[in-house]
Amino acid sequence: MKKVLLMLSTVWLLSPVLSQAQTKAPDPGRITLVIHGGAGTITKALMTPEKEKAYQEALNLALQTGYAILKKGGTSLDAVEATVRVMEDSPLFNAGKGAVFTHEGRNEMDAAIMEGQTLKAGSVAGVTVIRNPITAARAVMEKSEHVMMVGPGAEAFAREKGLEIVSPEYFYTEARYQQLQKALQQEKSAGTPDQLNAPTKASESVPKKTKVKMKAGKAQGRAPENNIFTEGKKYGTVGAVALDQYGNLAAATSTGGMTNKRYGRVGDAPIIGAGTYADNNACAVSCTGWGEFFIRATVARDVAARVEYQQKPLAQAAQATIDKVGKMGGDGGLIALDRQGNVAMPFNSEGMYRGFIKADGKSQILIYKE
Ligand code: ASP
Repeated sequence: MKKVLLMLSTVWLLSPVLSQAQTKAPDPGRITLVIHGGAGTITKALMTPEKEKAYQEALNLALQTGYAILKKGGTSLDAVEATVRVMEDSPLFNAGKGAVFTHEGRNEMDAAIMEGQTLKAGSVAGVTVIRNPITAARAVMEKSEHVMMVGPGAEAFAREKGLEIVSPEYFYTEARYQQLQKALQQEKSAGTPDQLNAPTKASESVPKKTKVKMKAGKAQGRAPENNIFTEGKKYGTVGAVALDQYGNLAAATSTGGMTNKRYGRVGDAPIIGAGTYADNNACAVSCTGWGEFFIRATVARDVAARVEYQQKPLAQAAQATIDKVGKMGGDGGLIALDRQGNVAMPFNSEGMYRGFIKADGKSQILIYKE
């Protein structure tokens, strides 16, 4: 009897390993990593050669970091976390070090990570002192019984788990601070935030000045040119999706949110199914864009659902979801990857920092519309 119990418990303990092995035999030829560094008004006209080079280098470093892990036989989860950490440590992206400022002049970050094989997920929101929010999201997934932790609680948890804690000043960058000043100025000349935020129908209690600018059908009552976050419409969220040698997918997203966001605002990035999703039965997705729309359209899950239930090819599914966001009045983009190694990177903004690398080590980095 004891022997049988022992055998049963051994099988139970080994089952995640077994199912991983059973899913697919290791195949170094299938590894793929896809990244984004945000979507928005990214055009050649607004770019300098130096800036473009800096972005290329940062994106390349992120790709090479994740690729090295996948190549060595590391998991997609390890790869997406390490890749996102590289971008969090760069001041160029709106995540970690380069996070944007809230209306009150703080940096409040969100991040999420998800594993496609187990559907395990972890996320943090509104954190202000964790150097790498993506690692905190992973700790929530692996070291707690929960999926999402916010604010001081998430920070206490990160501290307890020995993650690197920094002072809020670590996240100060002059460029982001100036972006906030610009957004505050724009907001001042466009109307009060309450006027801009409140109505869900363009006709309801909107001052005349604001109403003129609103376009019919712009959800939540705000036309893009009136939104409280405006700062040249550039989203700098970072994300990665990966496929490892074992055929397992993972997704990770990290962000400072949107410039001039109000206290306590949480975007799509840390919401499982909105900005981040991974399911071996469908695909892995990471998003960037106007978070409110991505939450309402459950974008990441929407792509996965089209793949899983409608059996749509990845590119079609991803494009259909971005079109849906566009119809709602939202903008942004996403990266998606399936178990066959198909890659999709659609966006409806002017540009999106994006790239991918395949098993042969050949990578591609793109910034503008093709
Ligand atoms: N999606 C992010 C948010 O709404 C912003 C971004 O993509 O940069 O928080």
